[in-house]
Parts: sequence; structure tokens; C-alpha cells
Amino acid sequence: MRGGTFLLPGVAAFFLLSSSSSEGPPPSCMQKYSDLNACFAGPNVLPSRTSLFMTFAMKPNPARFLQDLHELRQIGAAGIGKGVQRRAFSAADLTARSWLADRMRDADLTPHIDPAGNTFGLADGRSLLVGSHSDTQPEGGWLDGALGVVAGLELARAAKDAGGPPISCVSFQDEEGRFGVLTGSDIWSGKLALADADRFYDTDGVCFADARTGIADIAGEFLPHDMFSGFLEMHIEQGPYLDETGLKIGVVSDIVGIRDMTVVFEGRQNHAGTTPMHLRQDAFQALSKFNTLLNDRLRNVVMPTTVWTIGHIALHPNASSVVPGRAEFSMQWRDGDADRLARMEKVIRDTASEVAKDANMSVNFGALMGIEPVAMDQRMRDALEVAADQQAPELWRRMPSGALHDASNIATVLPAAMLFVPSIGGISHAFDEDTDEADLVLGLQVLATAAEALAS
Ligand SMILES: [Zn+2]
Repeated sequence: MRGGTFLLPGVAAFFLLSSSSSEGPPPSCMQKYSDLNACFAGPNVLPSRTSLFMTFAMKPNPARFLQDLHELRQIGAAGIGKGVQRRAFSAADLTARSWLADRMRDADLTPHIDPAGNTFGLADGRSLLVGSHSDTQPEGGWLDGALGVVAGLELARAAKDAGGPPISCVSFQDEEGRFGVLTGSDIWSGKLALADADRFYDTDGVCFADARTGIADIAGEFLPHDMFSGFLEMHIEQGPYLDETGLKIGVVSDIVGIRDMTVVFEGRQNHAGTTPMHLRQDAFQALSKFNTLLNDRLRNVVMPTTVWTIGHIALHPNASSVVPGRAEFSMQWRDGDADRLARMEKVIRDTASEVAKDANMSVNFGALMGIEPVAMDQRMRDALEVAADQQAPELWRRMPSGALHDASNIATVLPAAMLFVPSIGGISHAFDEDTDEADLVLGLQVLATAAEALAS
């Protein structure tokens, strides 16, 4: 799905699946990673024992948790500070999954990798699943995803140490969208067929089918969802709210929905020196007027957490001495409420049509693409809020997530909830992404309290 003009190629892929074609280079073999191979006992390894343990108070080990986070960031360490480059299915990603499988085995969990590369550490019997993703953006930080994976590992270990309750952990594959968006959890949740994902390409022309041959020898089956009672994901906020307000914990209410559409103003290309201002049909001027009017009109519709972005503009012919005849731009908007997303769409369409009419030009709208908003499970949210009240009184808030996460997908097949810890300066998807270690540990403790209540 490369080469589109949309900012969210994976989203485009999701909506265009039914009409996508299968052209592309045939799969070829990637190098096999024998060290990863050795970490998995073989395909189709599922625990069959049922836990008969009584439950005890779990005591997550902050030192072990932080040490593992720092060990994991060494795999693919890059750039400045604690920066990491660990793209999905890269050598560093597979090494990280091998490392993770070793930690799982050390903790008496059963490592299991599915055909999409999602890597599980399974407790015995039906369990609560806790995790996130360990792949990164091309220039990533040490915590985006990795925090939730290592927190899941630590909770699963702490539960083992305490004799229960059963907690499994997971690192989903390609959350950061080398091939799609949230590719691994898209596939596991059933939203995306593996055969369709196999035809996704990264920006270098490598397809998902080729990339996953690196795990072909060790991948087992897709796990049934009902092995798990629910899914908890801890993540850095990746925004400024908690950091700016001095709060330590965010309990996620819902994960926003996204709408994405291309808009084109078609005016009249002409000479920039000889065309009088009053005779111009300048597509850029139309876009500029549209943007000003839109910002004004959306104010009556949106919430403080609603966002909208014109992130890409292409003027034609894009030359300094030519009145632009064509302005094509991306229009993206996000909110937790599907009705509000629809009301915003009407304002966007009406405003663009009005501007075009006034300027005596035409406007065209591309296909509307997007992802629906997802509410987090109320019972799991309640458990996180009770735990936050105990561990961080007065220092937590409910908040929506403006970023997509694996929990968006898992919420469609299991009860799911999310916990945020602050991002220093609101910075993420950058080498210098960071969080105070005391905040990481506090988040782990809140997560552990909620997980024990939910899994017992
Ligand atoms: Zn993430």
C-alpha cells in the first residue's frame, strides 16, 4: 500500500482491503534467525495445565523491571541518549524477541510466537494478558511499547512468584506500522487477514510475507482469544497533559477514532505577473481561506481533546511565478466520539464547498478513511482507577488516548484497558523520549494492583 498520498497508509490499507490487488514481487526467503529459533520450543506449544494455586499479593520487583527495560534498550540502541531503532522484523527486533523469550522461559512462562510475529509468554490456564509492542519507529525511544511489554513480563513473573493469579504477557508485532498500522494486533484480532497483510509493503519495497519468513520455522498457531480473560496495556502518554499538570497516572477512557480524507481545490493555473488579483482562481488562496474558516467553525463542535490537521499540501504546478491552479491536501481529524467525527466531517465538507463556490472553482473530496473510536472496558477501567486512587491519590486523571495502540484492536475481542505514565516534555517517536524512572515504577505498581484484582 505504498505510494498513496495519505498520511496514514496503514489506515488506507485497512479500508481498501476489499479492493486491493495482489501485484508485487514474489516472496523470497529472508535470513533465518537461529538464535530466535532456539528460544522457542517449537510450533504449537500451548500450556495445558490449569492453575490450582490460591492467589497471593503480587510484589512486582522494580529493580528487575528497570534492569530489563535497560537491557532491552541496548538491543538496537541508536542515535542519542536512550534512542532505539528496532523496526518490526529487523535483526534487532528479532533479537529483542529472542531476549524476551529467554526472560519468559526463566520465569516459567511458555514462549509462543504466532504467524504474524506476536510473541506471547503464557501462564498456565486461562489468564489475564498484559503487554504492548517491542518494535519501534525508525527513530524511536526506549519506552514506546517496550515499557508495556516489560511491565507485562514483570507482572507475569510477580504472579508466578506469588503463586498466582495467572498472568500472561505479550509483545505484538509491527505496532509502529512498518507495513501497516498495528499490523500484528490487527491480524490477531481478526480485523485483517494474514493473506492481505502479506501484500503490505514497507517504504523499501519489502513485503510482510517476506519479512515474516524470518520466523516461519518457529511460529506456532494463532492463539484463541478465549485463552485470556482480558488485556491490560501500560504505555507512555506520548503527549504533554500529564507532564504539564504534574500528574503521574492517566487511566484511559477511550482511544480516539480517526478520519482521513484528501481534499482538492481546482482553480485556474495562470501567469503570476499578468493575471489581475480579481480575476484569479487561486487554489492556494482557497485553501488558506478554508483553513481560517474551518478553525473558527469547528470551535462550536469540538472538545478540548479533539484535534484536526492539514499535514500534507501539494500545489500545482508549485512554482513561484505561477498562480496555483490546484491545491490537494490531507484533512485528518480525531476524537473519541463517532458522532462528533461525523459532525466535523459535515463542517469540513460544507466549508470547503462554500469556499469553492465563492472563488468560482470546484472542490473534490477523496474517499473517507478511518478507524472507529474504542471505549475501554468499564470493569477494567474501574480496577485501574481504584488502584490509582490507592497508589497515586490525587495524582491521576481519566483521559482519552489520541494515539492508536494495540488495545484499540484487542478491545474488539477481549475486555481491554490502558494506563498512561507521563512523557517528559510530551516527546515520543524520537530518540530523546523519556520518563522519570520513579514514574515508571509507580505505573507498574498501579498496573499490578489492578491486574491482581482483575485476574483473581
Ligand atoms: Zn506504542
